[in-house]
Amino acid sequence: MKYKRILLKLSGEALMGDQQYGIDSNRLMQYAQEIKEVSQLGVEVAVVIGGGNIFRGVQAEKVGLDRVQGDYMGMLATVINSMALQSALEKLGVYTRLLSGINIQQVCEPYIRRRAVRHLEKGRVVIFGAGTGNPYFTTDSAASLRAIEIEADVVLKGTRVDGIYSADPEKDPNAVFYSNISFKDVFEKGLNVMDMTAFTLCKENGLPIIVFDMNTSGNLKRLVQGERIGTLVSM
Ligand code: UDP
Repeated sequence: MKYKRILLKLSGEALMGDQQYGIDSNRLMQYAQEIKEVSQLGVEVAVVIGGGNIFRGVQAEKVGLDRVQGDYMGMLATVINSMALQSALEKLGVYTRLLSGINIQQVCEPYIRRRAVRHLEKGRVVIFGAGTGNPYFTTDSAASLRAIEIEADVVLKGTRVDGIYSADPEKDPNAVFYSNISFKDVFEKGLNVMDMTAFTLCKENGLPIIVFDMNTSGNLKRLVQGERIGTLVSM
């Protein structure tokens, strides 16, 4: 196996499938199945899932609500998605633990780094809910932070696109695909991989990021087995 411990970041939006809101059950089961397959290979899997399919903090301001309140609503949205993913994984017989950055003790364990690592060592899929537990952050930042804390080998950012291009390939026919790119080049070219906080955390800690298409079945498995899929961002 190329990677022993991975942090998989999934966006909340991807969970919607073709819907406008909420959770698409087919998409959810597909993700659970893919995660199960890599877990069965003996890879330690941690997951951070976003909340954009339910609520984002920036939406709060648009409707006249307080931003911080909105961010907490967004964090709770990630807990809902995490619970759905946990349930889907359990349906497939996968042992999981949901650890939350905000204390919601009836539903999830509190996030404790040592405990997270222990769960991973025991082969349980660990889902990190509620982002970093702090407003003004994103789940990409949570993914970078948790990955560094648990000493993951890589952040795998599952998206709808197959990797990073020099420009939007749907708008620019001359867009170039990068299979490898350095942190420095991503920064200098102003490419959008993750928000700056998340990106800087990875860069400063030498944690590689792979952006790949999560909706193509089998990609996650191929990646952990060492196939070069998507775009690798590294030193
Ligand atoms: N959020 C936050 N702190 C965090 C992580 C998330 O305040 O550490 C809030 C923020 O409002 C964000 C929302 O939760 O908009 C949902 O997360 P995100 O937008 O990252 O989800 P995604 O775009 O991946 O679906």
